[in-house]
Amino acid sequence: MTRTAIVVGSGIVGASTAWYLAKRGYQVTVVERDAIHAIGQSASGGNAGLLSIGHFPLTRPGASWRGLRWMFSQTAPLYIRPRVDAELIAWMWNFHLHCTQRHLDRSMAVLCDMGFKSLAALEAIIEEVGIACDYQRDGWLDVVLKPENLAIAEQEARSIEPYGYKWERIEKEQLLRQDACFRGDVAGAIHLKDSAHCAPHDLIAGIVRALPKLGVDVRERTEVRALKTGRGGRVTGVHLATGEELHADLVVLTAGIWSDALAKLAGVRIPMQAARGYHLQFAYPSEGGPPIPSTGMVLHESFVAVTPMQTASGPQLRIAGTLEIGPVGAPWMRDRVAMLLNGGNRFLKDLDTLKPMSEWAGYRPCTSDGLPAVGGVKARDGLYIATGHAMMGMTLGTISGKALAEMIDGEKPCIDCSMLAPDRFA
Ligand SMILES: Cc1cc2nc3c(=O)[nH]c(=O)nc-3n(C[C@H](O)[C@H](O)[C@H](O)COP(=O)(O)OP(=O)(O)OC[C@H]3O[C@@H](n4cnc5c(N)ncnc54)[C@H](O)[C@@H]3O)c2cc1C
Repeated sequence: MTRTAIVVGSGIVGASTAWYLAKRGYQVTVVERDAIHAIGQSASGGNAGLLSIGHFPLTRPGASWRGLRWMFSQTAPLYIRPRVDAELIAWMWNFHLHCTQRHLDRSMAVLCDMGFKSLAALEAIIEEVGIACDYQRDGWLDVVLKPENLAIAEQEARSIEPYGYKWERIEKEQLLRQDACFRGDVAGAIHLKDSAHCAPHDLIAGIVRALPKLGVDVRERTEVRALKTGRGGRVTGVHLATGEELHADLVVLTAGIWSDALAKLAGVRIPMQAARGYHLQFAYPSEGGPPIPSTGMVLHESFVAVTPMQTASGPQLRIAGTLEIGPVGAPWMRDRVAMLLNGGNRFLKDLDTLKPMSEWAGYRPCTSDGLPAVGGVKARDGLYIATGHAMMGMTLGTISGKALAEMIDGEKPCIDCSMLAPDRFA
């Protein structure tokens, strides 16, 4: 008999899970609060679009102390809004406990394996559907201003070499020759060759629009209010904001930062903090204008990502970044939006001649151990969760969805999920 599944949220994780469940013959309903073609609140539409495999998690040795120091500066790259909140304090303490070299080594082994497999899975979907999202597998540049930081960037690249990553150091003269977008005071760059970049909103819209062809019922502008439980506490469906109920054999929570609030109503906790980031989107004039960067990049000293995107309405540039840990829905911090532009101007020629066509803010779902939560919930039959991808969701979301569909179908997942169990926080 065909099994039925409800997937809550159609960001990269939900869209991928729905894709792979449908491919396995499940009758899937996707419930999404926003409109599908809008970037909306989904982090998956508004992120920087760097599919940066080999990215370190937030939990690195020293990160907790740095975070504490930065708590008092609203313009620090990582800013924690100070507040008396038991959940924040518990999260910070657990985060601190995981900022060890041992945990980083174990995490990197899992994340790096996920990275290569995720891009392969994503490329297969893009090709099968024919999604025009300016996907380019040409790596990304870690661009550096200060010569001493070039050595640090090189050391970081060297540390992911054992996991199979290729990189190259690019000296100043070569960088300026190959890419006219940079100001003359850059010191050089590290080219991390295995990664990719894309226009993420076009990618997500492309996957979600293809789902009905696999028999998936996509319900946009529809909000899930609560999970429905039946005998023995088994999750049997969802309650919608409209008052309607949907029933299914299983429910998959892929609602990004909102997953915890929904799980909590069913007595399950995925403690996460929302790390808000912003983006500015620029359109290039048809003639003149500053040189367009040739590839995706992170501006090392500014902690800002810059991604060129070829869209249906012409070439655009997205500048994204800043990590601001605070409550969902708090007012925007304009100083932090300005940091993106200032950060970009330090590296890129004539950026200040362009006017942003749009601004956006969204939330990275961050667990306290820096790893995603992917799997079934032992205490609640019928409930599966995939969230907590923090700064790496666009990169790793596809393989999480694939692995979750395999687990649901009773197969051994294609990645090692032993550190990713959603129950690990119980
Ligand atoms: C500024 C910024 C830059 C980033 N850059 C990168 C990058 O370059 N590379 C990278 O890999 N990652 C990046 N990330 C992180 C990445 O965007 C996220 O990790 C990832 O998109 C999370 O995907 P998700 O599917 O879990 O959640 P989301 O994309 O947030 O999707 C969750 C969906 O659930 C829906 N939803 C929520 N509640 C309900 C409900 N009750 N009912 C129905 N629907 C609901 C929401 O509307 C949303 O569409 C960045 C994030 C930010 C903020």
